[in-house]
Amino acid sequence: MSQLLDGKMVSGKVLDRVAQEVASMAKPPTLAVILVGDDPASQVYVGNKKKACERVGIVSQEHLLSADAGQAALLALVQQLNTDPDVNGILCQMPLPSGYDYDEQALCRAISPARDVDVFHPENVGKLMLGEPELLPCTPGGVLELLDDAGIDLAGKHVVVIGRSNIVGKPIAILALQRNATVTICHSRTRNLAEITRQADVLVAAVGRLHFVTPDMVRNGAVVVDVGINRLEGRKVRGDVDFDAVAPKCSWITPVPGGVGPMTISVLMKNTLAAALLQMRS
Ligand code: NAP
Repeated sequence: MSQLLDGKMVSGKVLDRVAQEVASMAKPPTLAVILVGDDPASQVYVGNKKKACERVGIVSQEHLLSADAGQAALLALVQQLNTDPDVNGILCQMPLPSGYDYDEQALCRAISPARDVDVFHPENVGKLMLGEPELLPCTPGGVLELLDDAGIDLAGKHVVVIGRSNIVGKPIAILALQRNATVTICHSRTRNLAEITRQADVLVAAVGRLHFVTPDMVRNGAVVVDVGINRLEGRKVRGDVDFDAVAPKCSWITPVPGGVGPMTISVLMKNTLAAALLQMRS
């Protein structure tokens, strides 16, 4: 029977460590969160980030723009926050509203690399690729924290990542490689997917499709990390992995909810603290 990679519990530990360090600072760090439009899921994410800030003692600023505010207004706000001496971390909740002329890549380039707590700026992505990141991207960093807490060493393991997005799949693969795993990245054009995933010692699903990973895709004893968030009716969410069917085959598995999701927010808090400390030293 599998053991649970419990994101609620591990994120609590990360948040406690951050809170302890914040309490020892003369001035708490400040995180500025930009929300464009009124997408309900984005509002929930922003609300959760605010709650996490309150828990650890980080000051949170919310900057709300209407969906039709436009790229120029968004970039002007970012510029203002980049130069505000009180702000240590800046993030803009993605995705930006569809149907308008927003350029997410230009936005990522506009946020000062020193305040880029999501680690989306090309300079920070480059440092990650080179193996010298100052901060880890939140979701991939959260996955590592979960594995570390369970004492799962990636060295020599075959890590198979399903998904190659810039914010999840690719950085998870790079971080696993830096931990000396042998890494395979799968995507929508991968042939014989199940044949590959069955070779995984550690299988990471970052697809965005409900119950995409079924028991026939998983080797006995594998570690399965489910990054997916798929919304059901109401506020219920489920992952990319068919948890009930797959769990009996695994050594370790993350639940959804309560797995990678809370880790993402706790790493965001860790990054805001780290950004503030780096800014104090520079
Ligand atoms: P994304 O940008 O849509 O990427 C999805 C990836 O899945 C793509 O690389 C796509 O391949 C691949 N894919 C789609 N269909 C596939 C198939 N049939 N076979 C194999 N691969 C397939 O999504 P994302 O931003 O990476 O997010 C992935 C999931 O994680 C979503 O559910 C998202 O909500 C969730 N998420 C969770 C957290 C968290 O904190 N837990 C954070 C971020 C995201 P192609 O590249 O070929 O299209």
